Amino acid sequence: MIYFDNSSTTSVRPEVLHVYEQVLETVCGNPDSLHQAGRKARTLMEESRKNIARLLGVKPSEIIFTGCASESNTMAIIGYALANINRGRHILVSNAEHPSVRHAAEALAELDFDVEFLPINDQGIVTPECVRQHMKTDTILVSCMHVNNEMGAINPIGEIADVVHTHPTCVFHADCVQSFSKIDVPFDRLDMATISAHKIHGLKGSGLLMKKQKLKMVPIIQGGQQENGLRGGTSNAPANIALAKTIRLALEEQKETYRKIEQINQYLRRELAKIPGAMINSPADALPYILNIGFDQMTSEVLLNALDAKGICVSAKSTCSSHSANESEVLKAMGKSKKASTHMIRLSFGKDNTMDEAVQFIKTVKEILNAYGLSL
Ligand code: PLP
Repeated sequence: MIYFDNSSTTSVRPEVLHVYEQVLETVCGNPDSLHQAGRKARTLMEESRKNIARLLGVKPSEIIFTGCASESNTMAIIGYALANINRGRHILVSNAEHPSVRHAAEALAELDFDVEFLPINDQGIVTPECVRQHMKTDTILVSCMHVNNEMGAINPIGEIADVVHTHPTCVFHADCVQSFSKIDVPFDRLDMATISAHKIHGLKGSGLLMKKQKLKMVPIIQGGQQENGLRGGTSNAPANIALAKTIRLALEEQKETYRKIEQINQYLRRELAKIPGAMINSPADALPYILNIGFDQMTSEVLLNALDAKGICVSAKSTCSSHSANESEVLKAMGKSKKASTHMIRLSFGKDNTMDEAVQFIKTVKEILNAYGLSL
């Protein structure tokens, strides 16, 4: 099997699994219990929080463990807006966000917040100028993802943060799920940032929200003192402890893996350009880990199934939208043709992919196109 769907999820690193299993087996306590079993779990979990904070360059109190990035995003958008309603009601969200951000913003609109969606340009990004033009005196929150999950387009989040911070009462959240440990994330310039463990060879059901200490937030999950009163429910100590290892290993390999993936991406772009009817939808300067492509004569579904039958796993659109029959909203927002947005597939690469797999992919695509009578 060739797995080119690493933006959907990744395999778990054996080292991470080992930590998780060891903690599950040996640390049974609830980190909020006062007895020794609880204290042991708390010590390890707080150690993990400290290590993660050091790796991100923030304070331990600024790391909130969550169950996934969707939860972190919901918390950042709804939790922040509800707690800061006295400052204003205007919220800006890019129109290419993951559904967890988009739907959270739509939920706020139902609660009479003034929600506006920022347009992406033909390169798939929101420009700092666009943010500047849409800011109002009562804008309290701007959210824009770092790397788009369908296209790999990289938003200039550092510059966007600078624009947002020209308004003293406005804060900036960035969904960094697809960028973290692939390119540098400017955590020092962000007020809130989302990370998911299972996208970086960690555990499913584990994520975090980085939230600067001074920001007020309403808990979305009520129920207790956990995570500084911001997330009720017994802490998933084994997952939270394993997250430090996940992050450390991912960051240690960032540069080396990037170089390898860049070569794979460049090879695929070169070879695809030689195939008649091939479309490369990702911008030239996109993150190399994501390559959005299509073929004139084959719809997304037909191509995805044909590749699957040959043992190659890819996505059409993002996985969270894979059961909706509509065209890709992101390609539509970039102004791509209807054909491009109904004929696209997303290849997404990870540390275990090889150049041989890329060569095999091109060979297989040519076979499929030939089998469908599209002689090359
Ligand atoms: N944000 C982005 C950009 C994503 O690509 C995804 C998952 O595909 C998510 C958020 C949601 O991640 P999780 O599965 O951890 O909720």
